Amino acid sequence: MKTSILAVGTELLFGQTVNTNASFLSDKLNHMGFDVMYHFVVGDNPARLKAKLAEAFSDTDLVIMTGGLGPTQDDLTKEMVAEYMGRDMYRDDIVMDMLAGFFEKRGRKMTENNVKQAYLPEGCTPFYNESGTAPGFALSVDGKTAICLPGPPRELKWLWDHGVRAYLEQFMDKKMFYRVIRTIGIGESDLETVLMPVIDGQTDPTVATYAKEGECTLRVASQRDTIEEAEAAVNEMIKRIDKLVGEYIYSYDDENLNEVVVRILKEKGLTITSAESCTSGLFPAAITDVAGASEVMSSAYITYSNESKINEIGVPAELIDKYGVVSPQVAEAMAAGAKARAGADIAVSVTGYAGPDADPGHEAGEAYIGFAMGDTVGHHDILTSRNDRRWNRNYLLLRMLRAVYLLIR
Ligand code: AMP
Ligand code: MG
Repeated sequence: MKTSILAVGTELLFGQTVNTNASFLSDKLNHMGFDVMYHFVVGDNPARLKAKLAEAFSDTDLVIMTGGLGPTQDDLTKEMVAEYMGRDMYRDDIVMDMLAGFFEKRGRKMTENNVKQAYLPEGCTPFYNESGTAPGFALSVDGKTAICLPGPPRELKWLWDHGVRAYLEQFMDKKMFYRVIRTIGIGESDLETVLMPVIDGQTDPTVATYAKEGECTLRVASQRDTIEEAEAAVNEMIKRIDKLVGEYIYSYDDENLNEVVVRILKEKGLTITSAESCTSGLFPAAITDVAGASEVMSSAYITYSNESKINEIGVPAELIDKYGVVSPQVAEAMAAGAKARAGADIAVSVTGYAGPDADPGHEAGEAYIGFAMGDTVGHHDILTSRNDRRWNRNYLLLRMLRAVYLLIR
C-alpha cells in the first residue's frame, strides 16, 4: 500500500527537534510491507497542513501523521484532517474519562483547553492513549486512510504497540520478512559488484546495500503470501550471499560489531584488553557500551606517547627507534605487551596517524592494528587515504573490533 508520513510541528522546521517519528514509522511500515513513498514535514499552519495532506493523498492511500494533537491553540492536525475528509467532530466519552482520571491521579485540575483532546472526527477508530493525554485515531473515507498520532516519540511508540500496528494489518495482503546483514572490510561498490550475480534482475527477495562509516549493510527482504514463505526466501538468498561475501559478514541480525564481539567473548569465556595510541580509549568505550562487559574486560591501556608505550606495556625502545612508532612491529609489541600486562586472553592494539597531519614519509590514515591471542601475534595494515581525524579514529575502532572478531569467530 502506498503510504506517506506527514510530520507536523514548527519545531521540526526550526531544527530544534529531529524528526525521529518519521524514521521510526518508516522502519516499522517497511517492515510490514507498506511502500513508504514520501516524508513530509509541515509547520503548525492550517493552510499548509491541508495542502500537504492533499498532496500526500494525491499519490498515496495511507497518510500517517504525527504531532499537533495536543491541547494548545497551535495543535490543529485533527481539525484539519476532519475538515479535509468531510467529517464533524464529536466528544468521545472514553477520552473524557481517561483525561479526568489522568488529572485526578496527578492531583491537578484539568484546564478547559484539555477538553479539546477529547474531540475526535466522527466515524474514526480511536487509539486510546495510556502513556499521555492526546488520543490518536484512524479515519477512512473513500479508500483513503489518515492516521493521526501524538508527537512525543514515547507516546507514538506506545500507540504503535497498542492499536496502530494491529489496525494496519487489515491493509496487508502480502507478508514481509527481512533481515539486515552487516559487513565490514569491503566497500559498497565492491560489495555490489561481487553480489551482482545474485542481485541482478532479482525482484524478490530484494537485496539493497547501504554504506555507513566504514561499514556496509545489506537488507534482504521478501514479500510472500505467508511469513514462513518470505522468511524461507530470505534465508535462501542469504545462503547465496554468504558464499560470495561470507568473510566480510559479522552479523546476520543487524547487531553492532561491539555487541557481536562481546557476545562471542562471553560465549567462549575469553577476556580482552587493548593498547591504543591514536584512538585513545575508543575501544574500551565500545566494549563497555555493551551490558555485561565486565565479564570480558578488566583493564585497557591508552599509551599515546612513546614513553607510555615503553613504560606501561613494555614496548622495547629499540623497536620504536628502529621501525618508527607507527609500524607493524610496534603494533604487535603493543598487543603482546598489553596482553601480558593485563593477563588477558586477547589483546588488540593500534598505532597510526589519525590526521589531518602525519610525520614526513607517512600519510594521515596510515595505521597498524596489532593482535595477540595465545601464541599468535599479528597485525593488519591500514591505509584509509583520508585526513579526516574523526573519521579515521572511528574507522580504526571498527577495524580493531574486526581484528578481534576474526580471531574469535
Ligand atoms: P505535539 O504533539 O505537536 O504537541 O508534539 C509534542 C512534542 O513531541 C514536541 O514538542 C516534540 O518534542 C515531539 N515531536 C513532535 N513531532 C515529532 C517528530 N516528528 N519527531 C520527534 N519528536 C517529535
Ligand atoms: Mg506541536
